[in-house]
Amino acid sequence: MTATDGGDSADDLEYADAPDAVVCEYCGAPFADEELRALHRGHAHSDALTDDQRAAFEAAYQDEQAEIRQFRLKALGLLVLLYFVFLMGYALV
Ligand SMILES: [Zn+2]
Repeated sequence: MTATDGGDSADDLEYADAPDAVVCEYCGAPFADEELRALHRGHAHSDALTDDQRAAFEAAYQDEQAEIRQFRLKALGLLVLLYFVFLMGYALV
């Protein structure tokens, strides 16, 4: 992989030399933790994954989906709360 093939190579990233970075064995891209690397491998190198890597990707994907769903519920709850705070503020003042 070269630096000109999409801008996703390790050379383009300023944190590539971080001592605790987890590196993708297919393209050399650094990641902060194993879960992010598993997600990257599943999306960028899905044809070359081993069974263990595919299982790690699916587990990380499920965890990420659960986190996104929880964030959406919290954001919706906050919007509803904010709506009623402004509504009551407008009604009383
Ligand atoms: Zn990679």
